[in-house]
Amino acid sequence: LAHAERYAELAALAALGILDGDDRQEFERHIARGCPDCEKEQRETEMALSLLGRTAPERPPSALLRNRILREAQNEKQRWSRSATRTRAVSLLAAAACVLLALSLAIIAGQRRQRDKLALELEQAQTALARQELRVRFLDDPDIQMMLLSGIGPQPGARGKVIYSPRARRAIILATNLAPLASDRQYELWFIAGGKPVAAGVFEPRAGAPTVFESEMLPSGAGLVEKFAVTVEPRGGVPQPTGPMVLVGPA
Ligand SMILES: [Zn+2]
Repeated sequence: LAHAERYAELAALAALGILDGDDRQEFERHIARGCPDCEKEQRETEMALSLLGRTAPERPPSALLRNRILREAQNEKQRWSRSATRTRAVSLLAAAACVLLALSLAIIAGQRRQRDKLALELEQAQTALARQELRVRFLDDPDIQMMLLSGIGPQPGARGKVIYSPRARRAIILATNLAPLASDRQYELWFIAGGKPVAAGVFEPRAGAPTVFESEMLPSGAGLVEKFAVTVEPRGGVPQPTGPMVLVGPA
């Protein structure tokens, strides 16, 4: 693999916190020697993954936190193979709950500065928790795959990475340089499985930051996932691709 491809992969795994062993040592040595490209890659990937954790900012904090707790409880039911991960998620959840309590008290007491500071802390705690939850779902999969997508057709400058968990049957796509779309259009992600495209969800491009999107679940019965592709489709998506393909890979 060329430098860019090799380290784009390592940077994504490092940002997910699942880089270990020789790969981790190699990547840390490489970063320590100084490589602006890889530093940028890692920063962008971390930023994109953080964005994935910040959902529905309009909802009140109590509902947000309740959702997190419910999701954590669901995770709890699943088999967690790494007790350290589990302990960390639980302590993150406890930290978020503490911040939420302090925030409620600050709001009741009308302490505006304290409230703003706590709101920021809560957001950070929620982001950390969401990232942790994301890691747990993907981390548990020894067969996790990382694929690079290249821009084609009308968008040769687009780039993408897909992290695919065969166990979760879901993928996360991180894309940069995707063009803005007309308001009646959205990007649609496709699993190419058993030689056929399977719709994986629609998403909006994010301006000035990497676009990050977690796919829908690959239906059971679909074949092995060979590739991923992104097309431009009517808003809401279509069951089979009709628009121009802008990202595809791996080559
Ligand atoms: Zn590098």
